[in-house]
Amino acid sequence: MPEVNSPSEISEPTRLLSLPEPLQAQLDEGTNLPSMPAAVGRVLAVARHPDAGLVDFARAIENDPALTLRLLSLANSAFYSRHQTPLRTCHEAVSRIGLDATLAAVMSFGLSRTGHQSRHLMLLWQRATVAALAARYLAQQLCPLHSGTLFTMALLQDIGILALDAMAPKKTERLYADVISCHSTLEEKERVSFGSDHAAVGAWLAQRWGVPGHLVSGIQQSHGPLTSIPVELLCLRLSGPIADAWLSPSPAKSLVNLMHRLKLIDGMESISVNQLLNDIHHQLPAMASLLDVTAPPLHDNEAMLQEAQQHLFKQTLTLSARLDKQQNEMEALRQRQDDLEARSRQDVLTGLANRQWLEEQLQQRFALCQIESRTMSIVFIDIDHFKHLNDEYGHQVGDKVLERFGAVLKSSIREGDLAGRYGGEEFLIILPDEVASDALAMVERFLQRLNNEAVIYVEGKPLYVTASVGIASLDDGQFDNIRELIDAADQCMYRVKHSGRSGVAVYGR
Ligand code: GH3
Ligand code: MG
Ligand code: MG
Repeated sequence: MPEVNSPSEISEPTRLLSLPEPLQAQLDEGTNLPSMPAAVGRVLAVARHPDAGLVDFARAIENDPALTLRLLSLANSAFYSRHQTPLRTCHEAVSRIGLDATLAAVMSFGLSRTGHQSRHLMLLWQRATVAALAARYLAQQLCPLHSGTLFTMALLQDIGILALDAMAPKKTERLYADVISCHSTLEEKERVSFGSDHAAVGAWLAQRWGVPGHLVSGIQQSHGPLTSIPVELLCLRLSGPIADAWLSPSPAKSLVNLMHRLKLIDGMESISVNQLLNDIHHQLPAMASLLDVTAPPLHDNEAMLQEAQQHLFKQTLTLSARLDKQQNEMEALRQRQDDLEARSRQDVLTGLANRQWLEEQLQQRFALCQIESRTMSIVFIDIDHFKHLNDEYGHQVGDKVLERFGAVLKSSIREGDLAGRYGGEEFLIILPDEVASDALAMVERFLQRLNNEAVIYVEGKPLYVTASVGIASLDDGQFDNIRELIDAADQCMYRVKHSGRSGVAVYGR
């Protein structure tokens, strides 16, 4: 069955294409531009006619025996005929391979005769051949009606390079030294060097030759992003990178990148990379010979895929190692943040809660007690005659005393209580859910300890301190806020100061 030109989502250009000056001028006057053999020109003229049929195509081709022979061998090749009887006429050949593929074949025969001398142009044709096979395979899986057209578009996608090469051979030799591995950055470089890229130039050239509009448009759109585009365009745009991977010096590695990309593209889930590679592998030698292209290398696909999988595995490992590292760094950051927060709640000298944190906690606890009708007590402690101590032993000893005093205090409270340094030589303890008598028992134990244990030794001599303590419990008064509660405990503490120090008083008693 001949393939028909079914309407494609790749729309045709509606106007005559032009390129930026002075590139346009340079190309216009260039006598070196690749040109088509006369027979190809005639075929193109036929192709431009909207109602041209197989017979017209066949007639145009038959005039050129070399072209006819090539087309016949193409139609009889494994690519087009698996079990069919050999064909003898040009008409049969055109009918078997379809109008678009005929056109592609005819054009590539014509074009590949030019510029085989340089390495980059040879690579270019190899790329085109592999890309054409890749596009055809993808299209057969995803949009079979367009497979012939896409084969042609993919084959012709880089012909702009031929024109640029003919126009400025010196410049392009450098630019295209590595057509394969740097194809994705090529357009960028071309735009810098020529003011346009080879897709635009290729479309312009094809239009000038009279190539049908949908193929011109295909060439024009053949390079670009892979997401949110019609599936035909996706097959076309993927064909180049697939060919690059195939032809790259380390195909397995390039394949890994490709597999990554394929995985991210909607609609590509059903494509088997293995089958794609096998298809290219089987068609490539015959296709290269038919298109008169130096045969691109063949790969042991299975080994290549295996190697690619290993690369992929290694990449995944590296990725997860990187992830681990990031997680550790995050954990360290969180830890640091926690440390900073803890430090912002601490009194530097004693390591107990600082005044701000004490008041915040007291506020929270106070609110909770009001909502849930619970109780709590607070203890206000002031060291006696601390000024004398400072005066007698010095500030440093005073500091040491505060530090040790804090430690003794801390070891005297129970789990769940919060002790802090309220100011200079004043301390405050919050005792949740404890009534005044519980607090009193705790304070008496603590004062007893101060009586029995020297807080520090100065030059071998024990130094004892005493403290005056006030207790206020929520149960023992009407407190509207924490200020009133603290004041109550403070007042009790002063009562002790005034009655001789070293003791404890409870609010309301
Ligand atoms: P009272 O028995 O009436 O409480 O007498 P006091 O001397 O303990 O009280 P006063 O409020 O008169 O003096 C407190 C002293 O505590 C004064 C101040 O220099 C000292 N002080 C406050 N903060 C620190 C500190 O961080 N380190 C040292 N070494 N001394 C401090
Ligand atoms: Mg004081
Ligand atoms: Mg004091």
